[in-house]
Amino acid sequence: MPEADPAPDSQNPPHAPQTAPDLRIGHGYDLHRLEHLAPEGPGKPLIIGGVPLEHDRGALAHSDGDVLYHAITDALLGAIAHPDIGQLFPNSDDREAGRDSSEYVREARRLISETGFRPISLDATVVLERPKIGPHKDAMRANIAALLGMEVARVNVKGKTHEAVDAVGQGLALEAHCVVLLAR
Ligand code: MG
Repeated sequence: MPEADPAPDSQNPPHAPQTAPDLRIGHGYDLHRLEHLAPEGPGKPLIIGGVPLEHDRGALAHSDGDVLYHAITDALLGAIAHPDIGQLFPNSDDREAGRDSSEYVREARRLISETGFRPISLDATVVLERPKIGPHKDAMRANIAALLGMEVARVNVKGKTHEAVDAVGQGLALEAHCVVLLAR
């Protein structure tokens, strides 16, 4: 007598359609030194997430030094396994001098769209001792969302101090971390 077919497994049907979403995750990190601003000094006004902040120090950088936009750019590029921001926009290139970092984010978005992906979630942390970014986080989120064509609700920016330890904690540098999820 032939054996009866096994009971169908409702959790794992044998011919389940492949519905898993096509996702990529990217991580970005950046750090810039902070220098006291002086009329002829090397420091630049402190710009984070496209928002100019009142501070007596600015980021040392070849571009405008927007540490958050740089971390976001590297997260986006990393998600599609693309060369990083330093390879795409070398700081030895005079054309990058003083460049508005939103252009890096735009270029990363363009490269992503060529692959058919789009960002669907972004979370970032900025680490600096001062000034507090709390009052500016929503402006940063709005800037990022606009650059990437995302809903603001899918973009988050957090601020942390470095508890007064190490260079970041002493106000000599600031850093940013970002993770981004892409889908197609
Ligand atoms: Mg940078």
